[in-house]
Amino acid sequence: MNSHTDLKHICSQCKKDWKPDINDYKKSGGIYKTCSGCRDRQRDYRDNNKDKIKGYWKKYQDNNKDKIKEQKKQYQDNNKDKIKERKKEYYDNNKDKIRERKKEYYDNNKDKIREQRKQYRDNNKDKIREYRKNYKKSNPDIIREQKRRYRDKKKKLKEQL
Ligand SMILES: [Zn+2]
Repeated sequence: MNSHTDLKHICSQCKKDWKPDINDYKKSGGIYKTCSGCRDRQRDYRDNNKDKIKGYWKKYQDNNKDKIKEQKKQYQDNNKDKIKERKKEYYDNNKDKIRERKKEYYDNNKDKIREQRKQYRDNNKDKIREYRKNYKKSNPDIIREQKRRYRDKKKKLKEQL
């Protein structure tokens, strides 16, 4: 017997005691704050009022644009490490999917991407030059290694001729 199931729970919605069963456990291991009956009702309500709820939410967003933006920014500022960690985790768990999606996007948008890159380069010549200069300066080993590899490749090509 799991000790959790012996605990009494007060539903935060109807305030009744209820005994959670296996369906009342979240994936994270916690237990829902509301009983299954209330959750069913909430789900029904959501299903029956999708458009209404969406409308409320949209209106709220329209009326609180600055507030929401500020909250989002604050959350991001306060949770930089957490967000980074989550992104990394997502990436680690979905490497193949992400790679596949990127490739697909690239294949479907080759011309667009090429054009975008060209435009970016044209618009940021100074920035790119500066970046390359800094990169070279701070990564002399990598540059040396690249040059070496390039020379080796050239040499091999010559030998093959
Ligand atoms: Zn309830």
